[in-house]
Amino acid sequence: MSVTARHADSGSPPFRRPVVIALSILLMLTVPLATWHLTERAAVARLTQAALATAQTRALALDSILDRQRAVATVLSVDQQVVATLRAGRLSDPDVSAKLDLLREETQSSVIYLMDASGRTVAASNWDRPESFVGHDYGFRDYFQQAIRQGTGQEYALGTVSGRHGLYLAHDIRDAGRPIGVIVVKIEFDQLERAWARDSDATFVLGDDDRVLITSRPRLRFQTLPSSRGLVTTRVPLRRSDWRLVVQTPTAGARRIAGLAAGTALLVVLLGGIVAALTAARMRRTARQARAQAAYRADLEDAVQARTRALSDEMRERKAAEQRLIRLQSDLVQANKLATLGQITAGVAHELNQPLATIRLLAENGRALLPAQATQATGDNLTRIIGMTDRIAVITDRLRGFSRKATGTLQPVSLDQAIQASLMLTASRRRASAMRFDLPELPDDLCVRAESVRLEQILVNLLTNAHDAQEDCAAPWIRLAASWDTDAVTLTVTDNGPGLDAEGAARLFTPFATDKPQGMGLGLVISRDIARDFGGDLTLDPASPGQGATFRLTLRRA
Ligand code: ADP
Repeated sequence: MSVTARHADSGSPPFRRPVVIALSILLMLTVPLATWHLTERAAVARLTQAALATAQTRALALDSILDRQRAVATVLSVDQQVVATLRAGRLSDPDVSAKLDLLREETQSSVIYLMDASGRTVAASNWDRPESFVGHDYGFRDYFQQAIRQGTGQEYALGTVSGRHGLYLAHDIRDAGRPIGVIVVKIEFDQLERAWARDSDATFVLGDDDRVLITSRPRLRFQTLPSSRGLVTTRVPLRRSDWRLVVQTPTAGARRIAGLAAGTALLVVLLGGIVAALTAARMRRTARQARAQAAYRADLEDAVQARTRALSDEMRERKAAEQRLIRLQSDLVQANKLATLGQITAGVAHELNQPLATIRLLAENGRALLPAQATQATGDNLTRIIGMTDRIAVITDRLRGFSRKATGTLQPVSLDQAIQASLMLTASRRRASAMRFDLPELPDDLCVRAESVRLEQILVNLLTNAHDAQEDCAAPWIRLAASWDTDAVTLTVTDNGPGLDAEGAARLFTPFATDKPQGMGLGLVISRDIARDFGGDLTLDPASPGQGATFRLTLRRA
């Protein structure tokens, strides 16, 4: 038994592959881009928030420094010692200077100095150092003039002596409503700027004119704010001035984070794609294997079914053969019985001869010795007995002849005599019923090439079948008709039976085909064989209406 796996198709339909590839490319582009965009936005938002917090903290710290130093200037502007020095019009006052120095020390300012109404410095915290302001005239400075004009002044500038930049906070000193001097606190923001510079973001304090004053990027001082491209810029106003504190935070970090996130997303998408592709491939492989197995199973089932069918056919044939064998055996038994019966018949016919001859002899003697006074009837009876013994002798002769083995040599046989002999052998069948019997007029010398025993066997068989076929027939008849020419003689035997249908006609000359309970289905087969042996044939004529079967025996004329 061979099993061939049916064709298993090779996975997903081809049109799906480009769609999957396009989707994968789309995913690989969109997911990282979207991740980049969202992450950057979130990171920038976080940066902005952090920058705002930083800016507010720094503004608060700066405001508190300025408030403290303003407070120093305000307090000093009403200090009695300071006012007294100015009233006295002293050119220099070391005591006040020392006081200012102490105060500077405590309040962490750069310089504190006192000017009279003309702008000349009369006391300064650096009075005892080489860069002392005492004696210097700063009347030209904006902060001085602002203070004289409006009470307070403020200027971020470079120191003319120190050359160091810083914020000058000025407050006027009045005596009876008249300005008699100005106290100035200079604050330097180096420390603050250094602290700011430690952070990655840049801090700027912008003045009224938008120029950078205090900054973590000293080289940008006194310049306008640089471009904020790639930066998050946060502005916070300072109290009590038009100054603003600006914090610029680079967004590079946010972009780096976004880039990292996008890269990770791309990696995840790629890994996901690889895992999905591997899973899909595995699923396709599994599906292919399942299909192949299903096809193999189906083939196997087909093969098993085919084999089962073949086996059952074989079994059926074997059973039929067995039945044929059984039938054959019983037919052989029957044939054997008939053969035995034939031998017995021949024996009986032979044994009858002797007593029959004796009866005849005695009957003849009896007739010859009849006394003259014997009645006519007695003589007739003896004559009839003699006739009867003759007839019995003919019958036993025929029986013995019929059961004699055929010689196998063909010679001219009188057709009429053969017919007469077979009529005698089948006479018992006709005695029971009043059957019409038509015989042909045959010339005595009409001979056929045959063997008388076997020719009689054919005729007896045809006549017996005709009798059998008309068992239940209301008006039975048998008609024998003959025709001949120089070469052949044809004899037909027709009856008034049911005849044969197409199926019966088809299996007519098949061995053992019989519809009779005691039949063997061999008679016609043997008869045809004999006829063909004689150089003739035995056939069935096509059915014609108004009559039963017609068998046609053709023989060579002798
Ligand atoms: P058997 O007489 O033992 O059945 P035969 O070979 O002589 O064997 O006949 C075979 C069968 O042919 C008969 O059983 C019968 O069915 C059919 N048959 C023969 N002769 C006739 C006939 N004259 N009419 C109808 N059927 C016939």
